[in-house]
Amino acid sequence: FNTERFGQHILKNPQVAQTIVDKANLRPTDKVLEVGPGTGNLTVRILEKAKHVTAIEMDPRMAAELTKRVQGKPEQRKLEIMIGDFVKADLPYFDVCISNTPYQISSPLVFRLLSHRPLFRVAILMFQREFALRLVARPGTELWSRLSANVQLYAKVDHIMKVGKNNFRPPPQVESSVVRIVPEDPPPPVRFEEFDGLNRIVFTRRNKTIHANFLAKGVIEMLEKNYRTWCAEQDKIVEDDLDMKAKVEEVLTETGYSEQRGAKMSVDDLLKLLAAFHEIGVHFA
Ligand code: SAM
Repeated sequence: FNTERFGQHILKNPQVAQTIVDKANLRPTDKVLEVGPGTGNLTVRILEKAKHVTAIEMDPRMAAELTKRVQGKPEQRKLEIMIGDFVKADLPYFDVCISNTPYQISSPLVFRLLSHRPLFRVAILMFQREFALRLVARPGTELWSRLSANVQLYAKVDHIMKVGKNNFRPPPQVESSVVRIVPEDPPPPVRFEEFDGLNRIVFTRRNKTIHANFLAKGVIEMLEKNYRTWCAEQDKIVEDDLDMKAKVEEVLTETGYSEQRGAKMSVDDLLKLLAAFHEIGVHFA
């Protein structure tokens, strides 16, 4: 069976596959979600340790191959294969997610997992190196970005191992890394759309001041529109002399973040800034 023609990079190094599964510290009671099992190099190892695996695989040929691999074995009844696109699939309950998926769905994968309820315990995921490094980046470092802040609002993320191209067949263009994601439980009481909306502004040019980014084209207008909507919902009368730019500048000055740069804003800083805007009815989504 030659998977090369499917254009997928199958993980061929058994030690790497075993390490990924070991890092999940699976318990015999765990239900595991695997996204993109391919021919099942991770799946068979997960099945040894877990109670149940739901594997979502888009390519029916891969799914058939995986089915064959467990056919007639005791593990077969622990495995459910869902054929379809992870992004659209209804997710089952799971304690742990383990996945080496195509890198195009990296971002949707992370945010879909983090918004799923009830929350999972841990996810061990393989990504393109650069994406993985952005997930774990700390404020003030080169790769700290909107993605880093958005993920770290909801989870602790650790880099657990580098995986070179030659561990795959065929080898991909890029290097890979495995990360561990542990969601904050309970999650912070912040709407993702609000936090992300603020981050879109703050990280537009992460080395420019926050003040400058708020004065970029369209931002004040957008905030004014949101403010009017919010007032309408609250049955609050909008002031006749509404000056959104002045309102925004007041918040930036009072919080002390006006001359700060996105590059250095921690999740806590961003949350404080968001709370100060919310206090005066300014919303980002
Ligand atoms: N996990 C296997 C491994 O490590 O060897 C396969 C990895 S291969 C890079 C990615 C797999 O994800 C392929 O089997 C592909 O068909 C599947 N896939 C791609 N996009 C998907 C999606 N949106 N939803 C579910 N599976 C997907």
